[in-house]
Amino acid sequence: MNAANAVADGVIVGIWIAIFAAAAAFYALNRGYSRTTRLLLAILALVALLNVVENIYFGCYFGAKVGVLAAAIGDYLGNPSRLIVPKLCNITAGAIVLGLLVLRWRPAVIEERTEAERKTEALRELAAIDHMTGLRNRRDFMAHAEEEWLRRVRYGRDLSLLILDIDSFKSINDRFGHHTGDEVIIGIAKLCVHAKRQADVAGRLGGEEFGILLPETSVGGAALFAERLRLLIAREGPRLPDPARPPTVSIGVSSAERAASLQEFLKQADDALYQAKHAGRNVVRCYA
Ligand code: GH3
Ligand code: MG
Ligand code: MG
Repeated sequence: MNAANAVADGVIVGIWIAIFAAAAAFYALNRGYSRTTRLLLAILALVALLNVVENIYFGCYFGAKVGVLAAAIGDYLGNPSRLIVPKLCNITAGAIVLGLLVLRWRPAVIEERTEAERKTEALRELAAIDHMTGLRNRRDFMAHAEEEWLRRVRYGRDLSLLILDIDSFKSINDRFGHHTGDEVIIGIAKLCVHAKRQADVAGRLGGEEFGILLPETSVGGAALFAERLRLLIAREGPRLPDPARPPTVSIGVSSAERAASLQEFLKQADDALYQAKHAGRNVVRCYA
């Protein structure tokens, strides 16, 4: 080892010290990092520390051997019982790194991934919900309608649709205020959820308009359900300060049997709703 080697060894030790310091600083200062990142930083710091110790040890040993450092240092460090020390450090550090990776890092990665998937799912669910009523929002309802329509086309299953619209809702808002109007919307949404089967999909299509998709249901079954729901809302729906005129809904029903496309299926329920309004409101009409 000559002077150039000694300088090179010093530079290498300096680099490992810088790596150790950087890893330790990132670990200490960035508490917001995920557990897995902090564990990897801890492992990097440990490996860097080991390299610092090893390079200093062998740098001094070889330095003494070639006369750069005192011969006594070489004799001291070259003693076989001491030479084993850096090797034991090496093995211990390797075992610690392996233990951290297998016992701490891997479970932490799995836990973080599961948590991230859970959050993504929760966000997706949140984005599909109408916040006021807890029903599916229009976009999500339409996605379900498309899915059910494709199932119907492929397997020829029954599929029906109800579109409900609260009657004379403007007048409820005008007479009792928007807050009462909101309460009416929420109360009717609750009854829709209460009355439907689990497989049925209920959504808020807009202001005071709701849709309920009924998979595996013929137009006859859908008409019966619509009539039951209409009566339920009129009799047990949200109450107003004026009990003589409880909120009611008009309902249009369509069946996939009579529609050539999803758009037609949706439009037929809308047309039936229009007929229900024209028939005087608080009635059910099936598209015919
Ligand atoms: P119709 O029987 O023909 O359905 O009469 P309508 O008064 O219900 O008529 P329309 O459907 O046009 O009126 C809907 C009203 O609902 C208009 C809008 O101001 C009100 N609205 C829409 N969204 C909300 C809401 O979130 N809260 C409240 N309170 N009112 C809403
Ligand atoms: Mg209305
Ligand atoms: Mg409306």
